[in-house]
Amino acid sequence: MSDSVAERLQHVRSELPEEVTLVAVSKTHGEEKIMAAYDAGQRVFGENKVQEMLDKYESLPKDIEWHLIGHLQTNKVKYIVSFVSLIHAVDKEKLFQEIEKRAGMADRQVDILLQIHIAEESNKFGFDRDELHAFFAGDTFTKRKHTRVRGMMGMATFTDDRIKVKREFEGLKRLFEEVRTAHFTDDSHFDILSMGMSGDYEAAIAAGSNMVRVGSAIFGERNYR
Ligand SMILES: *Cc1c(COP(=O)(O)O)cnc(C)c1O
Repeated sequence: MSDSVAERLQHVRSELPEEVTLVAVSKTHGEEKIMAAYDAGQRVFGENKVQEMLDKYESLPKDIEWHLIGHLQTNKVKYIVSFVSLIHAVDKEKLFQEIEKRAGMADRQVDILLQIHIAEESNKFGFDRDELHAFFAGDTFTKRKHTRVRGMMGMATFTDDRIKVKREFEGLKRLFEEVRTAHFTDDSHFDILSMGMSGDYEAAIAAGSNMVRVGSAIFGERNYR
């Protein structure tokens, strides 16, 4: 790809309906590229590693909204709780409890998404349907004070089979609506469905996503260090 970050960002934006939030996934990319996107108006960035997000938070403009999109270990919550704007991948009750505790200590309300396991691959994280129902029935959820459940996040199977990907996204959208109806009737803040990445965001949006996490289509290929 020879286009600049600003041009690619513009292109991705032009394909998104207005109500869809773009999280620019900047993991592994340096500050120069992030600032190119920032200068083009992007303010929401996603990282998947705690240390990397912390370093970038410290050296980049303070009006950036940092989303942690990757798997989060319980013992690392404390490093990000004071500034993170959205944690996408809450995949266990234990992690939720730690966020609740640390958010209380930081005297903050922290927004999170529940990660749902929708892919065929077993190495992907997330709640399955039974775990989700148990979670909503339990004290961790009903007694929460500092953690706001804003919605759900999921990752489709990594495959060329478009029908399969479409089915997985549609399944998550149905579950999202089911949960909203069952547990958030008086609460309008359960409103984020984070699904779709560079290779599948169009399918995700068609299925009802309103937040996409797009990395390589904006910043180019990643070189893992
Ligand atoms: C890296 C990553 C993305 C972005 O992937 P691209 O294919 O580069 O768009 C999205 N979501 C999660 C959870 C990721 O780890």
